[in-house]
Amino acid sequence: MVRRRGISPLQGNVFVIRDPMFPLYVIRGDRNLLIDCSILARAREIEDELERFLGGEKIDQVLLTHSHYDHTGACSHLQEKYGFEIVASQRTKEILASDKAIAFIDGLNQKFKEMLQDRSGLVFSKPHNVRAVMENDVLPLSSSQELEVLETPGHTRCSLSFLLKPENILFPGDAAGVMERNGRIKPLFLSSYMQYEASLKKLMTLNAAVLALPHNSVVRGERAVREFLEASLAETGKLKEKIVCALKRTDDLASIAEDLLDEEYSAPAIMGPREALLLNVTAMVKSVFYEFVKVP
Ligand SMILES: [Zn+2]
Repeated sequence: MVRRRGISPLQGNVFVIRDPMFPLYVIRGDRNLLIDCSILARAREIEDELERFLGGEKIDQVLLTHSHYDHTGACSHLQEKYGFEIVASQRTKEILASDKAIAFIDGLNQKFKEMLQDRSGLVFSKPHNVRAVMENDVLPLSSSQELEVLETPGHTRCSLSFLLKPENILFPGDAAGVMERNGRIKPLFLSSYMQYEASLKKLMTLNAAVLALPHNSVVRGERAVREFLEASLAETGKLKEKIVCALKRTDDLASIAEDLLDEEYSAPAIMGPREALLLNVTAMVKSVFYEFVKVP
């Protein structure tokens, strides 16, 4: 893999720690913020980048868009160093308090470490000092800058998006879908198709100027952001139709998921363990099954 690390300015006081799969956004100010925490295998590199970038300053707060292993992986390691507060949804807070969930998140991170031949002994452990926020909460950054909290479930039940104002930079987590390495947008409605679609439509109403995606790209300009979200919505509908068709032929959800993974996810933005990818696709098949096929 080509390594292109370093920190680049995104706009104003927003910076991005470059990474082909897991770019991380840093907002500098009176308090320094990080949006999400990448994977455990990147923890030491992120630490080094932040050290160089921040000098003696700390990370004061981490905003988690959701609880997935590839957004929380480096969290506990970085928290040991910086002692920051974590801001997340109530559901993410509950997940991060569960021993079972911590073991699950660590398990996927250890698999990713193996894939990257990372033999460090780092483990993901239970983060502390997690504060729950909800729709319309505002996180002030300075007298002229704040982050607005939006609940955008559907990717997971715990998903939040954050809107930096007045710049209108949107951090949607995985709620806007993911751009694959071949440029195609892939939907990620893991917990609910209907909620995912509603969240996408909600994001469209914000007229964001920048879409700071958590995997491999930034979309700049109001028009480009709108086009991205429209394309994402269209792909979401198409994938649902495809799953509905498959469910008419068979009720074997696992085999539908296997076929979809091979057909649709051949160039994933997030390599990840196959197990994690298959879990995602299986969750989407189940969501369509329960919301559109198996009418109660
Ligand atoms: Zn996710």
